[in-house]
Amino acid sequence: MKGTSSRKPLVPRGRALPDDACPACGTMMKETRGRLGAPVNGEEVEVPSAAHLKCPKCGEVVLRFDEARRLSEDAVAIYRKAHDLMSANEIRAVREKHGLTQADLSRLLRLGANTVSRWEAGRNAQTAAMDVLLRIIRDLPGSVDFLRRLAA
Ligand SMILES: [Zn+2]
Repeated sequence: MKGTSSRKPLVPRGRALPDDACPACGTMMKETRGRLGAPVNGEEVEVPSAAHLKCPKCGEVVLRFDEARRLSEDAVAIYRKAHDLMSANEIRAVREKHGLTQADLSRLLRLGANTVSRWEAGRNAQTAAMDVLLRIIRDLPGSVDFLRRLAA
């Protein structure tokens, strides 16, 4: 049976549901996996097998909080691979090689205080320009000293 709604299925992110009832029609939703999109740095990234709840009657898609977080993290990892960006572990290795805290590196790159933390947790992806800076810090001796002088 086809649903009566003609609007596109919503994909609420980070919304917690009190139960598994469809917010659109009240039918019990089913746990499933499938292709869902999530935005990363302004780009819609497709995650091929994202866990979510789907309404068998109207097709409404809902993500629990942990499913939304997982979708976002998977999208960040796919985005990094697609754009040849450093992984979370590679960023952490660069930072630790220079004995910097996450806050230190954020300050040197003039980013928000939690930006490096979010990169390393896989919650956000660095831009291509920031990726270039991270590679300079990794590969060019003296680059951290240069950034320290700039920040002073
Ligand atoms: Zn429904």
